[in-house]
Amino acid sequence: MESGLSARDRVGVQDFLLLDNYTSEAAFIENLRRRYKENLIYTYIGSVLVSVNPYRELEIYSKQHMERYRGVNFYEISPHIYALADNSYRAVRTERKDQCILISGESGAGKTEASKKVLQYYTTMCPTRNNTQSIRERLLQSTPVLEAFGNAKTLRNDNSSRFGKYMDVQFDYKGAPIGGHILNYLLEKSRVVHQNHGERNFHIFYQLLESGDGALLKRLGLDRTNPQQYHYLVKGNCPRVSSISDKNSWKVVSKAFTVIGFNEEEVEELLKVVASVLHLGNTQFGEDEYGETHLTTEMPIKYVSELLGVEGSYLSEALTHKKIVAKGEEMIGPLSLEQAVSARDALAKAIYGRTFTWLVQKINQSLAFQVSALKCSSVIGLLDIYGFEVFQNNSFEQFCINYCNEKLQQLFIELTLKSEQEEYEAEGIGWETVEYFNNKIICDLVEEKFKGIIAILDEECLRPGDACDLTFLEKLEDRLGGHAHFVTHKLANGKIRKAVGREEFRLLHYAGEVNYNINGFLDKNNDLLYRNLKEVIMMMIEGFTLLSCGQAATQFKLSLAKLMDILMSKQPSYIRCIKPNDAKQPGRFEEVLVRHQVKYLGLMENLRVRRAGFAYRRSFEAFLQRYKPLCPDTWPNWQGKLSDGVSTLVKHLDYKAEEYKLGRSKIFIRFPKTLFLTEDALELKK
Ligand code: ADP
Ligand code: MG
Repeated sequence: MESGLSARDRVGVQDFLLLDNYTSEAAFIENLRRRYKENLIYTYIGSVLVSVNPYRELEIYSKQHMERYRGVNFYEISPHIYALADNSYRAVRTERKDQCILISGESGAGKTEASKKVLQYYTTMCPTRNNTQSIRERLLQSTPVLEAFGNAKTLRNDNSSRFGKYMDVQFDYKGAPIGGHILNYLLEKSRVVHQNHGERNFHIFYQLLESGDGALLKRLGLDRTNPQQYHYLVKGNCPRVSSISDKNSWKVVSKAFTVIGFNEEEVEELLKVVASVLHLGNTQFGEDEYGETHLTTEMPIKYVSELLGVEGSYLSEALTHKKIVAKGEEMIGPLSLEQAVSARDALAKAIYGRTFTWLVQKINQSLAFQVSALKCSSVIGLLDIYGFEVFQNNSFEQFCINYCNEKLQQLFIELTLKSEQEEYEAEGIGWETVEYFNNKIICDLVEEKFKGIIAILDEECLRPGDACDLTFLEKLEDRLGGHAHFVTHKLANGKIRKAVGREEFRLLHYAGEVNYNINGFLDKNNDLLYRNLKEVIMMMIEGFTLLSCGQAATQFKLSLAKLMDILMSKQPSYIRCIKPNDAKQPGRFEEVLVRHQVKYLGLMENLRVRRAGFAYRRSFEAFLQRYKPLCPDTWPNWQGKLSDGVSTLVKHLDYKAEEYKLGRSKIFIRFPKTLFLTEDALELKK
């Protein structure tokens, strides 16, 4: 327990609710900074955990630490991710209520590390039953496999997850982990064919080339001696990274495959796809004298067709011609050089994307939920998904990601405020309205049927004729021009708004303004492959997974809606991750950068809402049990009604009327200080 002024001056307060000046952003950031300097990376806002990436290994994750947090309440011990993990677990055990832990923050802020720490806590601390040992191992080992195929080195994070992940861990009635299930979102497929300077393709490509054994590479037609020869790997000009050991990772991944239960053939099938993507990337095209496109390289296509088991001539045809159905008749037309290149890239992205989906399905089979135990089991879901993204240039990807965050914010509002309100009502305590911004209006702007941005995008994608990104923008202007959260470069008075480009639209998100460049929206939304290319994929992936249909943004909207349903049915906890500097360096706390994130994570609003109501609540029973030694009338046991006992106790402790209220089954304490003083008194008593 951190109390006493001097300690608080040095290390700040462990719960932002305790800040005197809780509306001041400067005070908030100063508190974070002080704690960070002392290596105290965790701070609460009530039950929300704020975490600042230390960029160094801290000695706070040992088994002893885990044990220290087992079964204790938040305010009894310094903030830790284990406290949050344990809290959710206890709710599962005692209330049998499904939980979810929502982790947000920008790239490199520590989300994935946080989710791993939570998972480690459960796999280490939860009881085992005779057959659950292997499920623990499998839960843990799913991570390196997914990271190999779904993570990459980016400028902002050397091990950046390029997909969103939601993982359910299933516990039986005794609290032993017995199963798991993963949902994946928005894999960044474009990385397969293109990487920005200083970034890499997905880890698995380099791991395989660096460490796959000679015979394997030979079967895959790959050549280790010169990784630079693979076009899909050289765009970022960054084949090696000091912080990454592809050799070690390969070992870890190979072992993980075994633990999860992949047999050798299945692993080789996967690697065949990885290799075929590299060969596809080396497929080149040229134009002949009549302007017809043809392949200028033979070997790569030969390998692709061998590895994936498709007829070579069929594949070559599919990469240089398109099949169109007009008036019920199939016609074949040539592709331009540019179209052929994009068909090739589309194919590479599609097979990699579908392989990833297949991989997740395989892992899910290995972790399969124990259906027989479903009735008496509970789950804790872990959501690790990109936070709000605002770059110099924002495109379709940021649009999807920010829409997702908008939905998560809505969930936060619904779950936190509504449940707060409901609880006050259930307890018969008057509700004081808290003013907050409800972002439903922005969610509607994006997702509303027929009228929203996604609907308009889909409409434009399906419209034959001259539909393009610019006509899409025009349509947005026409239909959404007057919306309070939508802006383009055109001002109502006919003048030009300089802050928004001619090929951009701006959304006023709950967290701030973002300009989106519309270039590529239609193509990315379509994710469409030419017909015969689709057929080729069908042939290749028969054994893998079914082709999905429909436009990507809509698909995403639907899967997001499903995720929201899942989360709505659970009790949420929040971890908000902050990146203290862009240099990935320990000890450096850059205020401007942190302030930006505090804003986009909505932390000040969060704090304001929490301070508006009652900071803490306890059931009469729990409150009495803990503090009864502080009053002679309640010690050692209170015999009467619980509410009377609590009443007697707080009178003895001299609580003022404005400090607390008694509900039907719980005591509500308005200021955290009240509770902290009571805790101090208890400490003294001991
Ligand atoms: P995100 O998933 O938010 O993009 P990561 O969880 O991958 O970010 O974290 C990026 C890097 O920061 C990690 O690879 C690790 O080096 C470092 N890091 C993050 N959290 C911690 C932590 N709690 N302790 C030590 N290092 C951390
Ligand atoms: Mg991550």
